[in-house]
Amino acid sequence: MSKLIQFVLLGAAIWFGLRLYRQWKLNQDRVDSPRGQERFERMVRCSTCGVHLPASAVSANGQCGKCSN
Ligand SMILES: [Zn+2]
Repeated sequence: MSKLIQFVLLGAAIWFGLRLYRQWKLNQDRVDSPRGQERFERMVRCSTCGVHLPASAVSANGQCGKCSN
């Protein structure tokens, strides 16, 4: 009888562990998704003409494509 109880407890522990792992993995995927980073791209202002652009579209000295040429 005690063997059966041990088996049931072991099964419950494994089930609970897998549930926690899946929940943790889901949260990790949400944090690391590249789509989330794209959505919140920083906007910066051109230091010469004052136009607002995504940070990746501004040159190293803080100017837009038009002003840096
Ligand atoms: Zn500019």
